[in-house]
Amino acid sequence: MFAAVCAKRAGADVVLLEHTERIGKKLLATGNGKCNLTNLSIQPGDYRGNHPSFVVPVLEKFSQKETLQIFEEIGLVWKDVNGLVYPFSNQASTVLDLLRMELRRLCVTIKTEITVSDIIPSKLESGKTGFVLKTSQGELRADKVILACGSKASPQTGSDGSGYKLAKKLGHSVIEPLPALVQLKAEGNYWKMIAGVRSDCNLRLYIEERTGNKTAKVKVAEEYGEVQFTDYGISGIPVFQLSRFAVRALWEKKKTYVVCDFLPNLQIDEILDYFHRKQKNLKDFGNCEELLLGLINKKLCQMVLKECGISLNEKATDLAEKQLKKIASLLKNWQIVLNGYNSFDKGQICQGGVDTEELHENLESIIQKGLYFAGEIIDIDGKCGGYNLQWAWSSAYVAATDAVKE
Ligand SMILES: Cc1cc2nc3c(=O)[nH]c(=O)nc-3n(C[C@H](O)[C@H](O)[C@H](O)COP(=O)(O)OP(=O)(O)OC[C@H]3O[C@@H](n4cnc5c(N)ncnc54)[C@H](O)[C@@H]3O)c2cc1C
Repeated sequence: MFAAVCAKRAGADVVLLEHTERIGKKLLATGNGKCNLTNLSIQPGDYRGNHPSFVVPVLEKFSQKETLQIFEEIGLVWKDVNGLVYPFSNQASTVLDLLRMELRRLCVTIKTEITVSDIIPSKLESGKTGFVLKTSQGELRADKVILACGSKASPQTGSDGSGYKLAKKLGHSVIEPLPALVQLKAEGNYWKMIAGVRSDCNLRLYIEERTGNKTAKVKVAEEYGEVQFTDYGISGIPVFQLSRFAVRALWEKKKTYVVCDFLPNLQIDEILDYFHRKQKNLKDFGNCEELLLGLINKKLCQMVLKECGISLNEKATDLAEKQLKKIASLLKNWQIVLNGYNSFDKGQICQGGVDTEELHENLESIIQKGLYFAGEIIDIDGKCGGYNLQWAWSSAYVAATDAVKE
């Protein structure tokens, strides 16, 4: 939609092809229905992929500043929530409606419920090289084609991976698409016990890397924030931020785990001081569960004691220093061994996609002149926080304005 707006504004004759019954379905689901359309602070490090620096010239040509300028022009009033940009209306549908209104104002032809089976590079009647598109509604001819088919994430919104097939038919390599910004599954029989708990934790992701006969644990990412414990593992923003690395490592069959710090603001000594004070206060009346109560969520207290092999009902004063140290250490370094991740229908985005090594800086294919790519179909994935939509807007603008040039 954004590429169509930009290309039409730059003077091209544009036809927008959509295989579902309506355009922009995924947009409606973004930001919990509020659409976090960009972020006021974007660094190249906010993006991943085999070659994440690919984003730099694209974002330089068209940043969040220029994006918001276009959205303001078409009528969007927005708000800044700690750097994250949302429509002031709090409705993702506002962003979609405004784009649809702009497409209507520009008289862009929109064809829905159309399946494109083939895009064939051909010499057109004009004598120029272009493309013949074989579709369920007959053949179409175009000087230039922008493939902006999204990914495999959330296929119910229409991005069902068919774009990758079209890209492959046109000679492009596709880095294995895998879910990202997704929940992680883990080993252990305590998940049902703590399901539903939310807790502010620090998470460190480790992956076991093999070189020759040696294995080394490598810390690949660290995140702080509200972790949501589920009946199969972990979720929440900090988990989403780590997930792309964890998913790729699990897919590569590497041992992958998260070390969870339940009390990032307290050192082990401070936790032990807390236990000593509590033991004095509780005297002979309190049990082990009460020793931990006040530190973290009650269900987590129960899980921690169980993991340490200590009964909840044991007298708090009976615990030896060694046992107190064991509890404190687990509170700081709880190891969660990952064994899976949710599928594409739960993942907000995909990592992987069309290899950026086969694309010029202006998003034109190196393999096929006149073919462009934009958005999530490319092997670029952003962190949670408006970065993925910004990549979609920026890449769409750069591809569209270049495609319109003679
Ligand atoms: C639940 C959820 C919440 C999200 N929240 C945010 C957020 O708040 N902020 C953020 O930055 N990002 C968010 N994202 C990610 C963001 O929505 C995507 O990165 C972005 O929409 C990608 O844009 P795109 O145009 O590349 O692909 P899409 O938005 O997926 O659009 C591709 C379109 O192409 C159509 N299509 C696919 N294949 C074909 C074909 N073969 N022929 C014709 N049409 C085809 C699809 O039906 C679809 O309409 C969220 C994603 C999800 C699922």
